[in-house]
Amino acid sequence: STQIQLVSRPVGTPTTEDFATVQVELPELGRDEVRVRNEYVSVDPYMRGRMSEAKSYVPPFDLGETMTGGAVGRVVESTSDALPVGSAVLSSYGWRDVAQGPAAHFSPLPETELPLSVFLGAAGMTGLTAYAGLKRVAGLREGDVVFISGAAGAVGSIAGQVARKLGASRVIGSAGSAEKVALLKDRYGYDDAFNYKDAPVRKQLREVTPDGIDVYFDNVGGDHLEAALDRLNRGGRAALCGAISQYNSTERTAGPDNMANLVKNSLTLEGFIVGQHQDLQGEFAEKMTGWLADGSVVFDETVVDGIGNSVRAFLDMMNGANTGKMLVRP
Ligand code: NDP
Repeated sequence: STQIQLVSRPVGTPTTEDFATVQVELPELGRDEVRVRNEYVSVDPYMRGRMSEAKSYVPPFDLGETMTGGAVGRVVESTSDALPVGSAVLSSYGWRDVAQGPAAHFSPLPETELPLSVFLGAAGMTGLTAYAGLKRVAGLREGDVVFISGAAGAVGSIAGQVARKLGASRVIGSAGSAEKVALLKDRYGYDDAFNYKDAPVRKQLREVTPDGIDVYFDNVGGDHLEAALDRLNRGGRAALCGAISQYNSTERTAGPDNMANLVKNSLTLEGFIVGQHQDLQGEFAEKMTGWLADGSVVFDETVVDGIGNSVRAFLDMMNGANTGKMLVRP
C-alpha cells in the first residue's frame, strides 16, 4: 500500500518536505477484517490542525505514522460476513491507496446512482456540516438573509443551496476568484456574491446587503467575521464553522473590533463541530440524496489523480485551487 506520512510539524504554511510517501507491506487478513481499494481520499482544512502539536477536537497526527482522514472505496478481500468483496465502504483510512483493518472500522455505503465520492462531500461530512450549521446552529428561519463565506468550497457550495431549501429569502456568498463568484451566482443559486480579494470585505459586504443579514455561516474568520458582525440585524445568528484564513498563521490574529455589536443587536455566535450533530445524519442523508438525485442540489469536485499527489492536493485546497470538494483519486 502506498501511504502518506507526516515527518515534521509544519510551522506556518506546510511544504512537501513535511511529508513522506512510503510503501507499506500489508499482512494477511485476520478474522473479521477487510482490505479496501480506496477510490477517493479526502483532503480537508481541519487536517492542518492535526499536523500541529496543539490539542484540538481531534488529536494531532503522529510523526512517522500514516495520516488518517475520510476515504471511500470497495472491499477487495474479506474475512467478514458483514462486508463481502465488492461492498462500498467509508472509513477514516485515508492518505493511502489500499486500506486494511477490522471490518468494524468500515461503514457500508448504500448503492445509489450517485458516485461514491459524494459520500465524502455533498452527501458526506462536508454536506452535513452545511446542513447542521444552518439548520440547527444558526436556526435558519423562513425569510432570513444569509451570508456564507468560503462559498465555492466543499461546505460553502452546498451551504448556499441548503440555505435556499431551508427558506432563506436571499443568499450572499464570497469566494476568492472571479470564476468562483460567477459559479456562485450561475450554478449554486446565490443571489449575489463578491471576490474578497477585490476590495475590503467590510466594504463589499455592505454594498450587497442593503437590508443587513440575519444569518452568517463563517468558514473564514478574520475580516469576514468582522464584516458580518457589522451587518447582522437585531437577533442575528452566526454559525462559526471554521476560520481558514488563520490556519497557517504563526502569530496571534487580530480579533474583530466590533464585538460590541453582539450586545447592541442581541446577536448569537456559536461555534460547532459537525461530529456533535451526527444525530442529524439520518434526516440529512435522506434529504440530500433526494436533492442530489433530482438535481435540485448540484455539487462539484476537484479531483487530483495519484495518491502520491495527496500533499499537493491538500496544499492546493488550502490555497483555493478547488471548486467544491477537493478529492484525491488513488
Ligand atoms: P473548502 O473546500 O472550502 O476549501 C478551502 C477553501 O478556503 C479554499 O478553496 C479557498 O477558497 C478558501 N480560503 C483559503 N484561504 C483563505 C483566506 N485567507 N480567506 C478566505 N478564504 C480562504 O474546504 P471545506 O469546505 O472542507 O471547509 C470550509 C471551512 O469549513 C473550513 O474553515 C473548515 O475548517 C470548516 N469545516 C468545519 C467543520 C466543523 O465541523 N466545524 C467541518 C468541515 C469543515 P477561495 O478560493 O475562495 O479562497
